[in-house]
Amino acid sequence: MIGAGPNGLAAAVALAGAGLAVRMFEARDTIGRGARTAELTGPDFRHDVCSAIHATAVFSPFFQMLPLAEHGVAWIHAEAALAHPLPHGRAALLYPDLGRIAETLDEEDSASWRDLFAPLLAQGDALLAELLGPRRLRPRHPLLLAQFGISGVRSAAGLARDTFRGDAARGLLGGCAAHSFLPLEALFSASFGLALALAAHAAGWPIVRTGSRALIVALAAILRARAAARSRPAAWSPRTDGPGHAGRALRITGRRDCERAFRQAPYYNRRRETVPLLRGADPGRRDQVPLLQQHAR
Ligand SMILES: Cc1cc2nc3c(=O)[nH]c(=O)nc-3n(C[C@H](O)[C@H](O)[C@H](O)COP(=O)(O)OP(=O)(O)OC[C@H]3O[C@@H](n4cnc5c(N)ncnc54)[C@H](O)[C@@H]3O)c2cc1C
Repeated sequence: MIGAGPNGLAAAVALAGAGLAVRMFEARDTIGRGARTAELTGPDFRHDVCSAIHATAVFSPFFQMLPLAEHGVAWIHAEAALAHPLPHGRAALLYPDLGRIAETLDEEDSASWRDLFAPLLAQGDALLAELLGPRRLRPRHPLLLAQFGISGVRSAAGLARDTFRGDAARGLLGGCAAHSFLPLEALFSASFGLALALAAHAAGWPIVRTGSRALIVALAAILRARAAARSRPAAWSPRTDGPGHAGRALRITGRRDCERAFRQAPYYNRRRETVPLLRGADPGRRDQVPLLQQHAR
């Protein structure tokens, strides 16, 4: 598995669970990249460097299969799931309780918000499981998905404009939708806004106690346990704690892409050695894979 971020670790856990031997490659000193926690400002004061809020994690069908709590993952829920800043020092707050939307929106937009979300929330867990799980040719809840799709297929901007009058409601929906990489005018961008706001109503947007790294540490521990259960220990290129050990980068794209990525990287990431291209190896021959390893300081 190339890359020990949350997705790479999750995929490795799945592969190890299926009985495959797994070898992790990680270019950095530590694992967890976009879900790492660091003492950026002082000792014992931990910051989540990238992901902090795990809006959909509690509904993730994959996470639900893992003993995350046994490995120390505890979710912390704030009273309000999120706050969307508005001009002139105002903010729109989204509380899990749909009834509290009236504390943030005017009467008309509160009613529209409830009309939009109440039907989805009635089967919120099932809908989020469909949205977050693997795509199926025959979904378990086709009508529910169709109901979601009627609004979800639209652009976030279009849905917000046509459904709400005020900037608070439009901002809440638009802010949720802006977490995707789609422009707010793009078709389907509404689906991200709806899903994230739905998750906020269904369970809040939790953070992980002690920081997102706890999730990464748990995934790594589960990976080790699964691998050990099959007498095939997971092999690691990086140390999992602290600096002082070079990671290993595999070059998996063409030279030009690599060069561009390295140029765009912060200066402290630029030191590296060129490593052979993956296409030079026969993926069927496991003994060739180690040849691709190079330390990348
Ligand atoms: C500033 C910021 C804030 C964010 N906030 C949130 C949030 O609040 N909530 C949320 O859910 N999401 C948030 N995200 C998004 C989240 O961080 C990413 O979706 C998530 O980290 C993606 O996981 P990943 O495993 O796919 O990639 P990454 O976390 O990027 O991990 C990829 C790993 O692969 C390694 N790698 C890459 N190429 C190679 C190679 N060739 N050889 C060896 N190793 C390699 C990298 O070093 C890295 O460790 C945020 C992202 C950013 C940048």
